Amino acid sequence: MSESYNPYATAQKQFDGVADMIRLEPAVREFLRQPMREYHLTIPVRMDNGEVRIFKGYRVQHNDARGPAKGGIRFHPQETVDTVRALAMWMTWKCSVVDIPLGGAKGGIVCDPRHLSEREQERLCRGWVRQLARDLGPVLDVPAPDVMSNAQHMLWMMDEYETIAGGKYPGVITGKPLGMGGSLGRTEATGFGLIFTLREALRELGIKPEETTAAIQGFGNVGQHAALKYQQLGGVILAVSCWDNQDQKAYTFYKKDGVDVGVLREITSVFGDIDKEKAQDLGYEILPGEAWLEQAVDILIPAALENQITGANAGKIHKQVKVIAEGANGPTTPEADEVLKERKIFIIPDFLANAGGVTCSYFEQVQSNMNYYWEKEEVLEKLDTKMTSAYLAVSSLAREKNLYMRDAAYVIAINRVVEAVKKRGWV
Ligand code: NAD
Repeated sequence: MSESYNPYATAQKQFDGVADMIRLEPAVREFLRQPMREYHLTIPVRMDNGEVRIFKGYRVQHNDARGPAKGGIRFHPQETVDTVRALAMWMTWKCSVVDIPLGGAKGGIVCDPRHLSEREQERLCRGWVRQLARDLGPVLDVPAPDVMSNAQHMLWMMDEYETIAGGKYPGVITGKPLGMGGSLGRTEATGFGLIFTLREALRELGIKPEETTAAIQGFGNVGQHAALKYQQLGGVILAVSCWDNQDQKAYTFYKKDGVDVGVLREITSVFGDIDKEKAQDLGYEILPGEAWLEQAVDILIPAALENQITGANAGKIHKQVKVIAEGANGPTTPEADEVLKERKIFIIPDFLANAGGVTCSYFEQVQSNMNYYWEKEEVLEKLDTKMTSAYLAVSSLAREKNLYMRDAAYVIAINRVVEAVKKRGWV
């Protein structure tokens, strides 16, 4: 893996740049540019055919100075510890930039749940928790769903934790099913939160949402809900790209008169793969995976995976593009950032733009701990307030100090964590 494609190297490079800018002392810098704790697990799972298979798992707690560590758990066949490290670090900045009292963590299991039965997935979830139970908990580290993990996985994990801990601890995990400690609005939160920040950015840039078009990479949880909310604002989506599990490559689904998000969702699998044949019947043009980025649209929404906009392809972004709202974590490499800066494309950086998920997870934790659950409208209203004020704080610092939006978000987030580690007397 070349350095520019290692997400951990990207996360550290972004951090170092801001550490220079705010003249961070060497010890504080060394402390924050790496995780405080890492767990590497081997998880034996009895498969349905009776054989035992060993899965590799991780949990990385980057920093918990501002509160219990918080972050999702990803199931992915190409998961690496460096990806998990980067994502844990971004979680610290994400919780900080939206000013919620939580630290940053991330977990992963190297697996492909699409090729595991329900029972195998359950055993894998329980196995991951069994190895980590002493280091998880509502006041220590609180996991959540992420790529290819879902509410059912979280419930099995909570159940395993409660069995070991001998009590009811719904605050140990978020993203639980509704009626089992989950919060209304959590499913929509990341995608909707992203569009709340996009709405504010367009307002500041003097662009009417109903006069814009967009292309989206990824049509899973984040991509679909971002698409729905954007469409509600009056925007028109021209292209959506996703991974095709059968062909093992990505495609872009293009419709020149605009995507009907509801109809497209009906022909999309739970893993976010769009059915090619059905899409063709509906009049979609099927283009290569990277074509989403080359479309003549006003807004790009990367909402799939990290390292998608790179030094190699940033030059292919159409000249009409004015805003990139990053739904995925780490979709843009530092080399691509240089191109975007030069072209004056306005960025809503990942750890701000996609913080709606963790903000709602925080609301879920609060509700779980109170054992009192809010109406959906109340959750989404509180989410809008949090996302809007976080966006406005970042954009006004960016304007005031003439900073790139990503740098402004980092300055706010890192300064809050620095204050916490210093006040605690850690460094
Ligand atoms: P998901 O598994 O529900 O969906 C992922 C989507 O990306 C699918 O449509 C898949 O087909 C597509 N995809 C995968 N590889 C692709 C490729 N090479 N080209 C085009 N499309 C591809 O995942 P999600 O929950 O929507 O998460 C997407 C991103 O957002 C990830 O980076 C995740 O870390 C980040 N994120 C998720 C949440 C959340 O609440 N779910 C919160 C914050 C950030």
